[in-house]
Amino acid sequence: MLRSAGETPAPQTQQSQAHCGAGLWPAPSLQVANLQSEAMLRYTGGSSRLPRSQLCPRKAAASRRTPKWGGAELTHVAAVHISEWVLHAEVMADFRIDADAIGHTLQRAARRARTCEVEALLAHARAGNGLDAESLAVLWFADLDSEALYSAALQTRGRRSTRLETFSPLYLTNTCDAECRMCGMRRDNQALHRETADLAQVEAQLRLLARRGMHAVALLTGEYRAASRPWAMGYVNAALRAAHGLGFSHVLINVGSIDKDEFAALLAGVPRRDDGSLQPKLTMCTFQETYSRATYAKFMGTDPDNPRADFDRRLTNFDRAYRAGMRVANPGILVGLNADVAYELTALALHTRHLLDKGMQVYLSVPRLRQIAGGRSQGGISDGDFIRLVSLLSLGLPAAKIVITTRENAAIQHTLAPIVTVISAGSAAVTPYTETGARFPLEVSQFEVIDQRPFEEILRDHLPPAGSIENFQPALTAPRVHERVAG
Ligand code: SF4
Repeated sequence: MLRSAGETPAPQTQQSQAHCGAGLWPAPSLQVANLQSEAMLRYTGGSSRLPRSQLCPRKAAASRRTPKWGGAELTHVAAVHISEWVLHAEVMADFRIDADAIGHTLQRAARRARTCEVEALLAHARAGNGLDAESLAVLWFADLDSEALYSAALQTRGRRSTRLETFSPLYLTNTCDAECRMCGMRRDNQALHRETADLAQVEAQLRLLARRGMHAVALLTGEYRAASRPWAMGYVNAALRAAHGLGFSHVLINVGSIDKDEFAALLAGVPRRDDGSLQPKLTMCTFQETYSRATYAKFMGTDPDNPRADFDRRLTNFDRAYRAGMRVANPGILVGLNADVAYELTALALHTRHLLDKGMQVYLSVPRLRQIAGGRSQGGISDGDFIRLVSLLSLGLPAAKIVITTRENAAIQHTLAPIVTVISAGSAAVTPYTETGARFPLEVSQFEVIDQRPFEEILRDHLPPAGSIENFQPALTAPRVHERVAG
């Protein structure tokens, strides 16, 4: 099932074939703007750059050479100061994607993947130090069995808290003004039956989830044109306030990109701390789906009236959310949309680093493409490559919480549960929950859900002996929740 050594794909640098210097330093012709990207790509959070003693001899010798830049010698200290200054400026600025810089990174990573540095990188990651974006790409390309990466993630994960957490998705509506080709909810999908729950139905679903022991919920809608967004903001605000009123300890909102002036309506009435940040745990979920502009345009379209077609507006949604007081972000990619997984892995790692450096808590989602109503079967990438991807994210970004969902079957969930933090379980249909399970009809769902068992059964599979899953209190302790909800 896992990809084995010798099957390593050639690096795809579809974003750019431009070439840069192979050494440790920026090429002499790089301007400050490019240096900013270099600084971001090289930033390691302080601890994940390999010490010289762990480099192979050829690399160690190269790292000792004094670089030249624009005819003047640049000392290591000065370069680090410039990088840190630029990095600081980047962290304070909104996130941007520099596809050329990522292309250069992937070319370097592909070269490094053929050196003896690979084993040292793996040992560094296994020790729990994390990896920078380029090193993650090195291990993606490396001639290493996926089992080796998975074992390393397992070993590393064992040193951290292993308590799983959960949430259930709750679709408030399956309407949408966007036209993403891969999605069942797209505006022009005649095969989807449209449903929108009223607030009473939403509250009833929240009470039902709470009675069943689920205390974290993701509220989902489509994405709407400007004229409909005031309605959408008020609607979602009412739902999230209902969830808070019922004692949900974590609410995630997945409602598309939000303009600066719309946050006031979305977050009205949510208590804040003295510094303006939100008090309850409220997560903004905005999956870029792909960080490739070309792939994004192919699937999400280019019509300026299409609310989802603006790549940059979506890319900077977390930065606006941060300014509006939100401190938890959930970026993600739709795995399989772009065949160049190394590019997506690198970009997602950069985005995650940007958000962590801002001081946000980060959840990471990597759902695979699935079947939609009226569409062909969509499978994303192979199980082996998917496990390789999740293993690398787990190894390289230990501060981020990786989410897997029941779009994966039980076997994949069991494999991945020990190296992720969150398993989300539930249905992708509108207000689907019943006292004992959920409805899963494809004709009202965004995507097919593979594991359709009740979430209690799914989560029971992952309950550690005498342990618990955060945000889930099954029947034994549910009466306390019943009383709270009833009151
Ligand atoms: S992916 Fe989101 S924005 Fe695009 S059609 Fe589906 S629900 Fe709408």
